[in-house]
Amino acid sequence: MSEEMIRVENVTYAYDEGGGNAVDGVSLTIRRGDFVAVLGQNGSGKSTPAKLMNGLYQPTSGSVTVCGMDTADDSLTWEIRRRAGMVFQNPDNQLVATVVTDDVAFGLENIGMDPALMPARIDGALKDVGMQEFASRAPHLLSGGQKQRVAIAGILAMKPDIIIFDEATAMLDPAGRREVFSTVERLNEEGITVVWITHFMEEAAKCRYIHVMHGGKLVLSGTPKEIFADAGRIRRLRLDVPPMAALAQELKQNGVALPDGILTVEEMVEGVKRLAPRV
Ligand code: ADP
Ligand code: MG
Repeated sequence: MSEEMIRVENVTYAYDEGGGNAVDGVSLTIRRGDFVAVLGQNGSGKSTPAKLMNGLYQPTSGSVTVCGMDTADDSLTWEIRRRAGMVFQNPDNQLVATVVTDDVAFGLENIGMDPALMPARIDGALKDVGMQEFASRAPHLLSGGQKQRVAIAGILAMKPDIIIFDEATAMLDPAGRREVFSTVERLNEEGITVVWITHFMEEAAKCRYIHVMHGGKLVLSGTPKEIFADAGRIRRLRLDVPPMAALAQELKQNGVALPDGILTVEEMVEGVKRLAPRV
């Protein structure tokens, strides 16, 4: 078993005393190299656990450990945030400077890095997200997908182990979504542990593992094939199955002999190729 990166143990979180629990008795473990999706309808409790996972919030009860550090220990807060970075929905709220490099430097300045070491770090981080040639551009003139990649570079510059993405593609057009998601897939291949909160089922289908939240509780965990195998159960949780899974189901009901478990475009292509006559 690989190293435990995040351990959430029986965590409950209430925003207001006497109010309901936004997170209710959740336990889960995320290991080094994982690519884990978190799904759930609006208000189901996805952003709150994300904030508990990087020490922005502390649990009302239970415990959250990041790289072996308890988030309840105030003296560890900065180290926890450096090791587990977060990227949010709106790129405009995450970019503050007038030049891309200054935005990437922002986090490094916050952690008090020696300015002499910064240019190499910034350059490396921009290269990692394919934004090197935009280094001296103005962030507000970039596309949404490019802005999110700059925000990711700002996190990468701090050499995190984990990045938690809270609906990081929700405000992007389809091209921007693909551009950001494939950047994140590549970062994961290079060793970054990824927590990917999303309401796009086609993205969840490409993650290696999925947790589903409902009413603050963790109600389902499994591989994409396990999670989406029962379309009725997914719809009862007010979620959709990935578009390719829905299409495969319709085709099968109409007598097309596709294999079970199709979730992605690539799997649909493979399934159809096996049926189609060769020309
Ligand atoms: P999601 O990200 O899945 O939409 P959240 O974790 O943001 O869900 O919210 C979970 C629950 O906590 C919801 O019922 C929501 O209304 C409530 N909540 C979220 N943020 C706050 C807040 N700042 N103050 C009070 N309640 C909140
Ligand atoms: Mg949210």
